[in-house]
Parts: sequence; structure tokens; C-alpha cells
Amino acid sequence: MAGGPGSYVFGEEEKKELMDVINAHALFRYGTPGVDGFQAKVATFEKEMAERLGHKHVFATSSGTGSLMCCLAALGIGMGDEVIVPGYTFIASISTIAMMNAVPVLAEIDESLTIDPTKIEALITPKTKAIMPVHMLGNPCDMDAIMAIANKHNLYVIEDCCQAVGASYKGKRVGTIGTMGAYSLNVFKTITTGDGGFVGTSDDDLYERGFGFHDQGHKPSRMGVEVGNRSIVGMNMRMNELSGAVAVAQGRKLDGILETLREKKALLKSQLQDIPGLGFRRINDPGECATLLTLLFDTQEMAAKFCEKAGTAPIARSGWHVYNNMEQILDKKTWTDAHPFHQCDRTYAKHMLPATDDILERAVNISIGVVDKGLGSGTGININSSEEEIMAVAKNIREIIASL
Ligand SMILES: *Cc1c(COP(=O)(O)O)cnc(C)c1O
Repeated sequence: MAGGPGSYVFGEEEKKELMDVINAHALFRYGTPGVDGFQAKVATFEKEMAERLGHKHVFATSSGTGSLMCCLAALGIGMGDEVIVPGYTFIASISTIAMMNAVPVLAEIDESLTIDPTKIEALITPKTKAIMPVHMLGNPCDMDAIMAIANKHNLYVIEDCCQAVGASYKGKRVGTIGTMGAYSLNVFKTITTGDGGFVGTSDDDLYERGFGFHDQGHKPSRMGVEVGNRSIVGMNMRMNELSGAVAVAQGRKLDGILETLREKKALLKSQLQDIPGLGFRRINDPGECATLLTLLFDTQEMAAKFCEKAGTAPIARSGWHVYNNMEQILDKKTWTDAHPFHQCDRTYAKHMLPATDDILERAVNISIGVVDKGLGSGTGININSSEEEIMAVAKNIREIIASL
């Protein structure tokens, strides 16, 4: 099996919430006219998640990609505006900026595998509108440094929390520190509805605009008569009640999932201490999700040899979260020529981010809760692994390294 921890603990609670909706026959998030017993699962999820994370407002969406687009649209980011985003992320962080006709400006990561704040200022121009830090692999970005830069240069901060639902940084949940937070509920994320997502913000206007973008311009929850009152042209990125039902149950499991993952990761990590040549990526806050353990070898050679014997690959070669492997942005045909409206003249080249390349060639992902070959974490443990299984995985890793 593959997927995130939420998919591994999917069970009776989700079934109960789903049956509520099925029995009520009301699948639309606003209820169905003439059908009694509407369950309002999406609205319940939004309210509970806002309280859980400390947002004033949350609205559910159909994907993390949609969530990012809602943030960009709410902030009015468009033609020619530059947004600084790390070169190690899922393509959606980059493609959503492009779809708004804005310009993704790729930034280096540091050994936390999140955006390197010391290299952001050199990328700022008069066209820069926002920074999009990505809390990659559940690890919060260095938000103090990022917020200081954003405040100094008057930039928005859109937190891409798609891989870090529930993580916290210095006591605040990710997504509540910047201007807006975008989250995913895809099957490979911390909690899941198969596909889905949500947006959080504490700004009333941004909430209204973001909500409107995801619901054809309507005011939040279509309250207070829409006709004649719609203030933005939007899309349809709404969540339906079946997804909402699962989201309610998964949301209630979130903190338990994180607690379990942190315990299992601590055990595995404790068995891999003091091995010459082996370290770990820097964790910016113990409030991280603990969905993955990232080994960081001193040299690329050692990482390559380890991967050969372990039957895996360094992150640099593991899949499509690395800019070098995103043919859609590297190739002019797909980036501009084939695109009906995106006329961005920015080009991206393989190996344009040497620090990122070096770190990702030395980094190897071991799954704790997110089992995903595309992230390089096809092997390791999962949220249901026993202590015995964890010790066996640790032993195997130690033996491979000893044999190199
Ligand atoms: C998964 C992901 C997204 C997009 O989420 P979807 O729900 O798959 O659309 C965006 N950014 C990051 C960092 C992701 O990992």
C-alpha cells in the first residue's frame, strides 16, 4: 500500500460520517432544495479545522492546487508579478503561479530542505509580490527569517502547507503565520479525502475574495444574497458533502496521527545516531509532522551507494518534486508555446540551483507516515508499524551503511 497516514487509518469514523450524508441524500455543500436532513459536513469541517489550527476563517476546496490558486487570486497576483518559490516542491506550487500569469522565481533550499531565507533577498525585484514558502515533507520553514524579509520588503507570504497539515512552528500552526495558508487533502498527505484541500486566513477581505474565487464569485457560504453582490470572477473548486464527511472524520484524527508519527520517528531516528558520514536534514521545529525521516549523507557518493543497496534513490533522482525533473517548466514548448495565455519569458535550466542539487543528491527519504515512491519514500515504515518492525528497518539501514 502507498499513501499518507490518513489513508492508513481510514475506517469506521469516516464510514459513519459518510453514511450520514448518504442517508440524508444531500450531496451539495449548500444542501439540496427540497431535501430535509442536510448534514452540513463541509461547513462543519471548515469550522472545526479553523478552531484546530487557529485560523479565523477556513474554506474547503477540491485540491491543494485549487487552494493555492485561491490564495493567489485573493491577493490579486497576476500578469508579470513575481513570486519567489523553492526549486524543491511539488509542481503545483510553480504551476499555479504560472496559471495566474505571474512569474515563478525559483529559490534555493538549505539543509532543512525548505527555502533558504539567506538567499531570498537577492531574488527580490520591484515586481516581486509574494514569497511562497513550502513546508516540505512536513518540516516548517524558517518562518521568523522569512517573515522578517517579507515585512521589510512589503511582500505577501503564501504558505504552501500541502505537505504539512497540522505542523507547528514556535507554537503556531503552519498557515497561520503568513498572509494565507493553502492545504491539500490528497491521498499522499497527512490527512485525506482522496482529493481535496482547504485555505486558511485571518483576514476578512482575503477570505471573501478567496472564497469567491472558489465558488464563482459568491460571498462566503452564499450568505446574504449573492445576486448583484458578487465582487470577483471565480471558478468552481468547491468540496462536496461526501468529501466533507471524510474530512470531518480525518480532521478529528489529525493530532492523534501527528502524535503517533512523532513517536515512531523518534524511535527510528534514535537507532541511527552516531553513524559516521550520516546526518539528517535540519528540522526547524519539533512541531513538524514527522511524516518522513530524511537521511543526509556527507557525500553524494555515499548516498548513491546506500541507495543502490537499499533499492531506493536519492531525492534528486526520485521523482517530480525536484525542478530538474519538471519537464513542463524546463521545456519552452510546454512552458510557453503550448500555453494559450501564459506568456512568461522567464526560462528555467537544469542545475540552475547548485546548492539545492547538492543537498538533494545527498538526501534520502525514509517513510514514517507518507509512503510515496514519487517523494523517494517508497520504503521505511508506516503509521501502523510495530516497534519490532521499526527496529528491523533501523537494523537494515545500519547494516547497509556499515557495508559501504
Ligand atoms: C500535493 C501538493 C500540492 C498540491 O496539492 P493537490 O491536492 O495534489 O492539488 C501543492 N504543493 C505541495 C508542496 C504539495 O505537496
